[in-house]
Amino acid sequence: MSSVKTAKETERMTRACRISAEALRLAGEAVKPGVTTAHIDKIIYDYIVSQGARPNFKGLYGFPGSACISVNDTVIHGIPSKSIVLHEGDIVSIDTGAAIEGFNGDNAATFACGAVSAAAQRIMDVTKEALARGIAAAQPGNRIGDISHAVQTYVEEHGYSVVRSFVGHGVGKELHEDPEVPNYGEAGHGPRLVSGMTIAIEPMVNEKSHVVKTLSDGWTVKTADGGLSAHFEHTVVITPNGPRILTKQGG
Ligand code: MG
Repeated sequence: MSSVKTAKETERMTRACRISAEALRLAGEAVKPGVTTAHIDKIIYDYIVSQGARPNFKGLYGFPGSACISVNDTVIHGIPSKSIVLHEGDIVSIDTGAAIEGFNGDNAATFACGAVSAAAQRIMDVTKEALARGIAAAQPGNRIGDISHAVQTYVEEHGYSVVRSFVGHGVGKELHEDPEVPNYGEAGHGPRLVSGMTIAIEPMVNEKSHVVKTLSDGWTVKTADGGLSAHFEHTVVITPNGPRILTKQGG
């Protein structure tokens, strides 16, 4: 499905994106030593439902949680659990999305649990900036590869790797639409970015190798070498004046 929206559709989509962003902010506030990821999932579920929206990850392809909560060497798709307790020094990647009025929002961030190591802080900082670089490249007339190249270059300059097995995506009436938005690739290649296109840009960055493995639960994706991983994501609309972040907190 094409991810190009009319101005009216983008306005409607803004509501889903605002709710997604606020759910993520609330989830981040709840990241503390001793808290379980199931507790954070409940905060996300309760908030999204209180807004009349639907947590769009829940049940998607059979996913059991309202959000993906991925700790330390878990890259993405961590299943919220009462048995996963957060500890001081953990880094916690939370991916939240809400659907309302027929449109979807999608965003993610990695949060520090208490005081974290310099290495943990650095991978979070680099991944957040990689997302900013990717968004800056999302100009009308550019191509998807310009986003990919901007993210990959920044990440690799800092000695980290970008995950290949999972990518960003178009987003709109469906949570996952065309085109794919890889975090690696060549500038000037791939689909052309046009005004009205709504995409989720989401660098997943590993401390060491980009190779990942999926656990036997069928969901949890971890780094193969046990290194840390961080994940930041925004839903963005391409406008004639450049990219506009729809999942901006307080936006
Ligand atoms: Mg996404």
